[in-house]
Amino acid sequence: MALTGHCLCGAVTYEFPNPPAMYGVCHCKNCQRQAGSAFSTLAGVPKAELKITGTPKLYRDGDTDSGNTVERYFCGDCGSPIYSAIPGQPDMAFLKTGTMDDTSGFAPMFHVWCSTRQDWVSLDDGVPQMEKQS
Ligand SMILES: [Zn+2]
Ligand SMILES: [Zn+2]
Repeated sequence: MALTGHCLCGAVTYEFPNPPAMYGVCHCKNCQRQAGSAFSTLAGVPKAELKITGTPKLYRDGDTDSGNTVERYFCGDCGSPIYSAIPGQPDMAFLKTGTMDDTSGFAPMFHVWCSTRQDWVSLDDGVPQMEKQS
């Protein structure tokens, strides 16, 4: 059964047929800023399998700790982040899982950029934590 999601206003919707290849949490400062929250929760989905309806706006985020330019796609009407893409994994889209209709399958496999994790966030889920992104 396809997994589905949409932005807050519904102008951008998406679906993909298979369970995500991975789930992870990013604690980088730029994800915090974009989400307006403590971290971003991500699901890696092959771009070839991701069907998007509507046209997300693209922000090319070049001021990153990794030095890579992260493509951040979001709804231009309501501002919901939809997905990110990074040059190191050009075939993957990293969906912001808060926009998924059913988040019950979310189980993080790693935390990245723990070096900028917010102080109040305690990670005791037994999942590997990386100071940066490998
Ligand atoms: Zn929207
Ligand atoms: Zn991040």
